[in-house]
Amino acid sequence: MATMKKLYIENLGCAKNQVDAEVMAYTLRNTYTLTEEADDADLILVNTCGFIESAKEESLTTFFTLRNDYPDKKIILSGCLAQRYANELSEELKEADAIFGNRDLRKIRDLAEALNTETKTTKPLCMVPEYPDPMEEDDTRDHLFTFPGSAYLKISEGCNHCCSYCAIPVIRGPLRSRPMEAILKEAKRLIDSGIKELNLIAQDLSAYGWDWDKVSHFEELLDKLCALEGDFKIRMLYIHPDWMTDRIIECVKRNEKILHYFDIPFQHASAPILKSMGRTGDLNSYIALIEKIRKNIPDAVIRTTLMLGFPGETEEDYRELVTFTKICRFNWMGSFVYSREEDTRAFDMTDEKTHEELSKISDKRQKKLQKIQEKITEEKLQDFVGNEYSVLIEELISGEDLAIGRIYSQAPEVDGLTVVMGRNMVPGNIYKCRITAVRDVDLEAVKID
Ligand code: SF4
Repeated sequence: MATMKKLYIENLGCAKNQVDAEVMAYTLRNTYTLTEEADDADLILVNTCGFIESAKEESLTTFFTLRNDYPDKKIILSGCLAQRYANELSEELKEADAIFGNRDLRKIRDLAEALNTETKTTKPLCMVPEYPDPMEEDDTRDHLFTFPGSAYLKISEGCNHCCSYCAIPVIRGPLRSRPMEAILKEAKRLIDSGIKELNLIAQDLSAYGWDWDKVSHFEELLDKLCALEGDFKIRMLYIHPDWMTDRIIECVKRNEKILHYFDIPFQHASAPILKSMGRTGDLNSYIALIEKIRKNIPDAVIRTTLMLGFPGETEEDYRELVTFTKICRFNWMGSFVYSREEDTRAFDMTDEKTHEELSKISDKRQKKLQKIQEKITEEKLQDFVGNEYSVLIEELISGEDLAIGRIYSQAPEVDGLTVVMGRNMVPGNIYKCRITAVRDVDLEAVKID
């Protein structure tokens, strides 16, 4: 019986990347056990992000730091950067032992075996397989990188929207919805294992199933997920504003298991900018959408993402974004400055010099806009004080009668947290708590049951 080796995964990027890392860890389970210490690892996987400049830089910096710290260990560069630049990296990144794409994660087993048998060459091994038939895909995971009680559940990969600035369709390909049965089976497995919060992820949840018959099957999937036995909640992460339909609102209203949390990246509010982004909508239609959601679901929590510095953005466009932010008063808003990405339609909408000039202006605008939002977020957090909520406890603070958790308005990793005062709490469980105060973007609470 061969001794089990140790695998260390450095996971970068988004929740979808994290699920891929969990699937790769499961796929290697017969040869490797996971370790949280790179020191102890026989194999290191740097699971990269590659959709904008800053993410690419962070991925390469992380890789080189690990390479410098562990000159003799086997290191595989996987994830979106590896998928997007496989040709260049397999020629130039001699420091890596292998480059692995992110379309057929089962093949990580073959690559790990090849690394153990083949002698090191001057160039990294490179494996960038195409997607398998969705019916053959095995997305089983037995180790989650999320805190106890919550899990991400990927319902599709790729995207057909092709927003002009976005490299994700280049990396992940066209929309590819997972078979509904496979998602329901995985959800049931997660719920049976004690998961209390399923965070649905995709490039755009609302397009689910559209690749089958040009109709969205998202509400159908939500109804079926909510019909599953068990005490759990569903959070929707990432719905394209142009596809945020009345049907989704009605589905949320008829299903208590769906959290009143809407993550809708509007990106902008100026009609000409949205048009050149390959999106529809404008300031008024987007404000109307927010008002409709809040009218139908009064305690709806809305998160959005806004982009500044898109080619051609004027002072007037920026003013519309400020107006949009002030009128809509989002609970949470993240903003970033446009990254000029090759192989996207927007790349040729400007030149490097003009882009750099607009980026400088946009950096300042972005900071101002985020300041406006910080004040709004704090004010909106006051609405929670004095009320009682279910808190999913994620970790205990040792030596204190304190624990950290999240309520329905707080998505994992991106929003604030709830610090709960009380005893006998177990991570992964849910407790009734009363919110007592706001501390920056976090809430303070006392346990009441
Ligand atoms: S919907 Fe999102 S993932 Fe799809 S192209 Fe647009 S920005 Fe990219």
